[in-house]
Amino acid sequence: MITRTAPTWQIENWQKALARAIRDPAELLRRLELPDTLLPGAQRAADLFPLRVTESFLSRMEKGNPADPLLRQVLPLHTETEASPGFGIDPVGDLAATALPGLLHKYQGRVLLMTTGACAIHCRYCFRRHYPYGEGCAGQSELAAVLAHIAADSTISEVILSGGDPLSLTNNRLLDLLSRLDRIPHIQRLRIHTRLPVVLPERIDDNLLNGLADPADRLVVVLHINHANEIDPTVAAKLGELRRLGITLLNQAVLLSGINDDLTALKTLSERLFSVGVLPYYLHQLDRVQGAHHFHVEKDAAMALMAALRRELPGYLLPRLVEEISGADAKRPLFY
Ligand SMILES: *Cc1c(COP(=O)(O)O)cnc(C)c1O
Ligand code: SF4
Repeated sequence: MITRTAPTWQIENWQKALARAIRDPAELLRRLELPDTLLPGAQRAADLFPLRVTESFLSRMEKGNPADPLLRQVLPLHTETEASPGFGIDPVGDLAATALPGLLHKYQGRVLLMTTGACAIHCRYCFRRHYPYGEGCAGQSELAAVLAHIAADSTISEVILSGGDPLSLTNNRLLDLLSRLDRIPHIQRLRIHTRLPVVLPERIDDNLLNGLADPADRLVVVLHINHANEIDPTVAAKLGELRRLGITLLNQAVLLSGINDDLTALKTLSERLFSVGVLPYYLHQLDRVQGAHHFHVEKDAAMALMAALRRELPGYLLPRLVEEISGADAKRPLFY
């Protein structure tokens, strides 16, 4: 049984850290000693999709370096405001796959449940940057219907908590949801897609660890780490705690121009992931979302990178390069 821990009204420590996240482009530039010339563009782009970055993630960036691979993931740029042909607002067909508010049923045996639109950082390339989270999430009031739907469909063997970031739910809400899903007889695996252990390591607190201990052997946590610099000793320690519970840890990254589209960056990422107990799972070709065209890596370049990576890494450290095709029955592998 998953035990309930803190009372619901109590503000958890990680929530205070989250509240301190930087939202003002001018502050971000000042903290990183970057030139003011970046400010007008950053402000215009932040009007479309707000800036958000945690202190913890910021602390791993290099001051005075506008090309820092972590900064590039969160710094709004004026290029985001330019339209680009082929880049739309629902690039992966999520709206068509919605079974119930907040529940996507695209692939056989797996459903994806979005319970919150909140994230601790805003990644500029996010394919959900235009997603109508207000209507698109299963809040407390929709949850009963979602659970009934999953319980009634015995072809579903895995529930994926996504978002937004499911770890932005409080421990009470998250652990309650996991235990209710875990009680459904045909649910064999629970999966959490999250970036919080990386961008807000404070989130992995004792109450959460206690609550995850029971379902640990049925739990898969898929992290989202794009660059080795994201893993500092604090993050490594938190991942170690999840691993010690027996949780399977995987990583998905997005192939991003100027951030990780070179052999050294990808190789170092895989090696660093292994050193902290995480195996690479997917390397996603960027979803063609409006405002993210400058992150796109051409398919030929992506394939060449994978071929080079395969020469230098053991097979188990090679992520699968995939792309998501609207309406397809699985993510499409591009390199095999
Ligand atoms: C990516 C995704 C999944 C999970 O796919 P796997 O290949 O099992 O990782 C499930 N549902 C939706 C809607 C997805 O986008
Ligand atoms: S953490 Fe994930 S869902 Fe949240 S903004 Fe980044 S890519 Fe998007």
